[in-house]
Amino acid sequence: MATGNINVSVENIFPLIKKFLYSDHEIFLRELISNATDATLKLKHLTSIGEVNVTYGNPIIEVKVDKEGKKLHIIDQGIGMTADEIQKYINEVAFSGAEEFLEKYKDSAKDSGIIGHFGLGFYSAFMVAEKVEIISKSYQEDAKAAHWTCDGSPQFTLEEHDKTERGTEIILHIAEDSTEFLEDARIRELLVKYNKFMPIPIKFGTKEETLPLPEDAPEDAKPETITVDNIINNPNPAWTKQPADLEDEDYKKFYRELYPMQFEEPLFNIHLNVDYPFNLTGILYFPKLGNDMNMQKDRIQLYQNQVFVTDNVEGIVPEFLTMLKGVIDSPDIPLNVSRSYLQADGNVKKISSYITRKVADKLNSLFKNNREDFEAKWNDIKVVIEYGMLSEEKFFDKADKFALYPSVDGAYYTYEELHEKIKDAQTDKDGKTIILYAADKDQQHSYIQAAKDKGYEVLLLDSPIVSHLIQKLETSKENISFARVDADHIDNLIKKDEEQISKLSDEEKESLKTTLTEVIPSDTYTVQLEAMDSNASPFMITQPEFMRRMKEMQQTGGGMFGMGNFPEMYNLVVNTNHELVGEILNTKTKKKQERLIKQSLDLARLSQNLLKGEELTQFIKRSYEMIK
Ligand code: ADP
Repeated sequence: MATGNINVSVENIFPLIKKFLYSDHEIFLRELISNATDATLKLKHLTSIGEVNVTYGNPIIEVKVDKEGKKLHIIDQGIGMTADEIQKYINEVAFSGAEEFLEKYKDSAKDSGIIGHFGLGFYSAFMVAEKVEIISKSYQEDAKAAHWTCDGSPQFTLEEHDKTERGTEIILHIAEDSTEFLEDARIRELLVKYNKFMPIPIKFGTKEETLPLPEDAPEDAKPETITVDNIINNPNPAWTKQPADLEDEDYKKFYRELYPMQFEEPLFNIHLNVDYPFNLTGILYFPKLGNDMNMQKDRIQLYQNQVFVTDNVEGIVPEFLTMLKGVIDSPDIPLNVSRSYLQADGNVKKISSYITRKVADKLNSLFKNNREDFEAKWNDIKVVIEYGMLSEEKFFDKADKFALYPSVDGAYYTYEELHEKIKDAQTDKDGKTIILYAADKDQQHSYIQAAKDKGYEVLLLDSPIVSHLIQKLETSKENISFARVDADHIDNLIKKDEEQISKLSDEEKESLKTTLTEVIPSDTYTVQLEAMDSNASPFMITQPEFMRRMKEMQQTGGGMFGMGNFPEMYNLVVNTNHELVGEILNTKTKKKQERLIKQSLDLARLSQNLLKGEELTQFIKRSYEMIK
């Protein structure tokens, strides 16, 4: 038996490992299974280059819990290590790796800037074990099995062992404070989380399986049950295959594999596959999103060579795409760094813009190849696209060709089509084209109707960030502006050179205005007299486009609009050509006049859904009295 001292400067590295990596103890299992996988893949490689002494067979990795003995075993059938190799790889190389890690991160490991994934490797075992054994037999001819033991101090023992099968067994003597890792359920959870798609089958326990009956079996035959290995993982997940080898159904099946609790099918998928200038594979799915911006993020899983790393892809995938689901697998994403470093990393930047481009290209081809289907899905994907247009200039340029603007009547236009369609009718006297929109078909019904009566097209823009998008479009397109239909009287929204003829004289208008402002609260409403069609509403409440938009933008978060809360201010448009308005003006009794004004104001508020609570109760009471 040999004993020795591992050559490190720190007296005892393991308490340090424990202390600094506290929150992430569970990753030890992923690290050990990654090593077992690497060892097995190396064997596969040796077979493929025709190395003698090697029969590959169907190697698996086995994880076993020995609760009584307080041990966890990880057993592989890979290339194994000779005693010399253990000395070299475990005592020297791996140790220096662990030490280097600590040297680098001991000051910063606690601030959460560091991702908890760093490939500390073999020594992460000491986060949960008080003693670790390696029993290994190399594939090399005549190699003797070796047995290494270490209790976490720099001393180790290395002796011969009688193991006969090729491969490595790691035995963790689980420490008192880590007994959770002796629970089957906990280990299963970890295997599913980190190793679900690793390339070598992982066995954990056994399960019963019922064999199908042969076709000619007698009626009363009982199906036979056998005990089989319980394999945790799918070693060949869809993203590792070629897109050409996959059908639509395969993608859907893989989606269900990724999100077993998700019953809704994805709308479509994007297969990512590059190997130059960086390596990246993956499948992204567009889930149905609707108008919900607060849906759970963190649904994209990041893998490195089929090993799960994290489901927080912030900084790697552009923010607007974190609303998608799926898998990204890249060995080229540095992990042992802070998020801010990650964002500055050249490779990561390239990856991020590659993903953005692929998503844009896919959307473009869906739009081109099957517009009808694309339109049908628009409502469920628009928040991602609109968000992308706002946040990524390059995406904006591409999306401009396929982003859709639906009308209240269910037509869908691209920006260019829309502009072409409305430019004749909706260009005002100053040459500006006004794009009209509504946010709610029912609530803004009367305003939409007024616009349609003029032959104008009204869009239905109801996504939560639409005010930001509008703002963006107004600055990137020339000579256009957006106006919500209830922002003003329609003739003011699109000003033409037409003369307005008022039934009232200037003095009458003056007098009307005085009367109205006496009754109408001026802190909320600004009275605006307009000579409109005599059939148009007598009173109409509008809210100036600019003010409403700023308010909305503030609500949906736009850092630059931090100018305090806007007060609720409206305009009260009074149609001087309406009969009722004439009556208000000519009523002699002050009381009746006041009642007419109040009732008209309340009706206008009612049609904007602004009348609520006690005021609504009063209004209803007053109305009953008037008709009885
Ligand atoms: P890394 O895997 O990053 O190289 P580790 O500390 O995890 O670092 O492992 C150090 C080395 O020990 C590995 O590179 C490998 O040569 C060897 N090793 C670890 N586990 C095994 C195993 N199960 N079978 C064969 N060799 C192993």
